[in-house]
Amino acid sequence: MITDRYRRQTLIKELGQKGQELLATKHVTVIGGGGLGSHSANLLVRMGVGSIDIIDNDIVDLTNLHRTSVFSEDDIGKSKALILEQRLQSVNTKVRVKGFNQKVTAKNIWSLVQNADVIIDGTDSIPLRLLINDISIQHNIPWVYAGVYETVGMVMGIHPKKTSCFRCIAQEIPKTKAQETPVLGSLPAIIAAIQCNETIKLLLGRQPSGLLIYNVWNQCFDTLNIKRNPHCPTCGIQKKNALRKK
Ligand SMILES: [Zn+2]
Repeated sequence: MITDRYRRQTLIKELGQKGQELLATKHVTVIGGGGLGSHSANLLVRMGVGSIDIIDNDIVDLTNLHRTSVFSEDDIGKSKALILEQRLQSVNTKVRVKGFNQKVTAKNIWSLVQNADVIIDGTDSIPLRLLINDISIQHNIPWVYAGVYETVGMVMGIHPKKTSCFRCIAQEIPKTKAQETPVLGSLPAIIAAIQCNETIKLLLGRQPSGLLIYNVWNQCFDTLNIKRNPHCPTCGIQKKNALRKK
């Protein structure tokens, strides 16, 4: 039963009541609860995705506040994941929000994402993204990469076997030179919102739209349609054929 809460959203012809009801059955796992992950989790809770896990072992720091909108000064020193659970659950009691104050590792990632229909990248770590990518391709779970650096943001929905994977596009991703990633405060909100759009599309069974790059200074959105790399060590077709021959 759809309540008035989503009325304006169900008026969208591509969504409708059926789409809204479908979203209510879906589970999204957000890895990272900082600038990107907190915005994404916030939007997905409001849009009515039925179950949302947020995983982050970090605490809220004063330097997080310029690029987030859920945390306040009172939250400094507290677990990001647990604050997000508490605050976002109160935004929408009709969905399930669960925070995990936990570090994601190669050993525990499967237990953390096994129920996910889509995994959301809220990390700022290439090794962690490669871990998400591996588990996604291995278990056929779509995920949505997002990254911000200075004044440039990137988003790409990855659908195993249908789109290129993160390793296919890894050479396009800027390597972080600084110990702390420099970022304009407003940028994660924009990029997380686009990340949520790609997530909703995946949850509704639609295909993602390539690697989107947004540059603040020239007011420009570019979308690169990157083909799957047949030699990709993670999703490459040739790799699979080689394995089959063994
Ligand atoms: Zn690949």
